[in-house]
Amino acid sequence: MKDIIIVTGASRGIGAATARKLGSKGASVVINYQDSEKEAQAVLKDVVDAGGQGLCVQGDVGNENDVLRLFELTQNHFGSPTGLVNNAGIIGTSKRRIEELKVDTMTEVMRINVIGTLLCSREAVLRMSERHGGKGGCIVNVSSLGALTGSPFAFVDYGASKGAVDTLTVGMAAELAKYGVRVNGVRPGMIDTDIHASAGMADRVEKHGPQMPMGRAGLAEEVADVIVFLLSKESSYVTGAMVDVAGGAR
Ligand code: NAP
Repeated sequence: MKDIIIVTGASRGIGAATARKLGSKGASVVINYQDSEKEAQAVLKDVVDAGGQGLCVQGDVGNENDVLRLFELTQNHFGSPTGLVNNAGIIGTSKRRIEELKVDTMTEVMRINVIGTLLCSREAVLRMSERHGGKGGCIVNVSSLGALTGSPFAFVDYGASKGAVDTLTVGMAAELAKYGVRVNGVRPGMIDTDIHASAGMADRVEKHGPQMPMGRAGLAEEVADVIVFLLSKESSYVTGAMVDVAGGAR
């Protein structure tokens, strides 16, 4: 069966690295993005150059109509998806304590990180689950070490959103185990991507990377390798698992 994998938030960072690795394995990759069209097109070129097939689809994962369109375009272009990587996510605005949280930021973090993951998963399951006539598949959710630590003194709303991602991973895995769909997650630690600058902390990796147990932050490719493993038949008896990709950080 040809792999047809939707990667949300694949224009940059961990999602882009995952799309590229899937392309190099000959998969058909749907590269979803929110704003970065040029970057998404560059990822598409890399996927095709590496021997895969690709399609860029703009859409906000927290918007139901956009998600329906993402799955409809995937279906029309490649057929039913065999895999979904719920990677799109945001930290929100800059470092803050609970007393300083703004309702707009909290709402946006939950909408994209939690509702986005649920919406995309629902649409994937409707197409992949044997309960609905599908042929099975895999979902990989990108959580965060913040789900375990709670991200204190930084962004507890983000930590809580990733706690929800862990919980829905376990719940969906149990619902879907009998119907050919595996659901797993990764919990990255500090990874060197744009997400820190987007949250107003451009120097975060430079400043805190050396304090990590391995003396450095991780690379997007190191997370992508684990995601690709969880999508592959090499992990056929793994479901409901969360894999920390955090270089020993807890
Ligand atoms: P990134 O470099 O900031 O990239 C984020 C990606 O998500 C971009 O492709 C962006 O698209 C997309 N995106 C953002 N909001 C979206 C939306 N509403 N709908 C669709 N796409 C959207 O982030 P990253 O570091 O690779 O993070 C990827 C995932 O890993 C996130 O879930 C994050 O929480 C998690 N994570 C990251 C770290 C880390 O240290 N980097 C640690 C733990 C967990 P556009 O560019 O088009 O806007």
